[in-house]
Amino acid sequence: MGSMRVAQVSKANGPLEIVERPIPEPGPQTVRIKVQACGVCHSDSITVQGAVPGIQYPRVPGHEIAGVIDAIGPNVTGWFVGQKVGVGWNGGYCGQCNSCRQGDLFACETHQATGVTYDGGYAEYVIAPISAVARVPDELSPIDAAPLMCAGITTFNALRHSGATGGDVVAILGLGGLGHLGVQYASKMGFRTVSIARGEDKGPLARQLGADIYIDSTTQDPAAELQKLGGAKAILATVTVSEAMTAVQGGLAINGTLVLIGATLSMEISPLFLLMGRRSVKGWYSGIASDTQDTLAFSSRSGVQSMNEVYPLEKAAEAYERMMSGKARFRVVLTMEK
Ligand SMILES: [Zn+2]
Ligand SMILES: [Zn+2]
Repeated sequence: MGSMRVAQVSKANGPLEIVERPIPEPGPQTVRIKVQACGVCHSDSITVQGAVPGIQYPRVPGHEIAGVIDAIGPNVTGWFVGQKVGVGWNGGYCGQCNSCRQGDLFACETHQATGVTYDGGYAEYVIAPISAVARVPDELSPIDAAPLMCAGITTFNALRHSGATGGDVVAILGLGGLGHLGVQYASKMGFRTVSIARGEDKGPLARQLGADIYIDSTTQDPAAELQKLGGAKAILATVTVSEAMTAVQGGLAINGTLVLIGATLSMEISPLFLLMGRRSVKGWYSGIASDTQDTLAFSSRSGVQSMNEVYPLEKAAEAYERMMSGKARFRVVLTMEK
């Protein structure tokens, strides 16, 4: 068996190092994927910093994997060598625990997370359970598909479960890695799309991505501006700044929902404002492999695309730092092609 290059961390807060490892063999109900591209997501910091208890090192981060099936393990049907596939944050499910039996596969009590509980996609090959594997449409290149495996599914799946329907006013708070996709999805879903971000200079880009209206939160009050439009049926908060999330909730329409996908620990809400208009605040988990397939199919049909900065696998540490700096425009993607 040959060897492969991976970018791994050997301890919490350790550096990302390129090492050679033997190419692994797929076990029962898993496939081996030859990775072509892997997005670099902020949640990879969980692995790099050791932010979850019990994480085992060395560990390879990466949960925006796009590639091709290269070998099939025992007891696998319906998948074939050469098939274009991807793997996202959800690392698969058991099908037997209480959550799975109730149909909430995303909440499987085994808590499998790609690049956290098993090695992820900062590598030339990865082993993935088939419950975590999504088909990738032929038209999507690996670099285009990779960021959709987490950033894409997270925004797309939250929007389609926001309660808004075509023609409704929907606002996207933030215009970063998630937000620049959220604006595109909202526009392509037929919402009256409002982009809220900081600075007048972001307006042209927001409009280019499909926003009908741009609100500069440094000079305008987003809640008041949204109420001038009749209020937003849904506001998708892609940021992690609690004050910004608190400031937009006043823009919700009657029966409107503030959907949170930026992982932060707390925010202020106004119970009176919520109950007087039957409004709600909810979080949305990104999704499972079938949601990913829906995301990819919608993206390829409608032309939704992530804007990416691409680095070779050898520069994984640099790519990770670039993502963590918050300055990337807009997603960072590793490519394994030499
Ligand atoms: Zn992610
Ligand atoms: Zn389960």
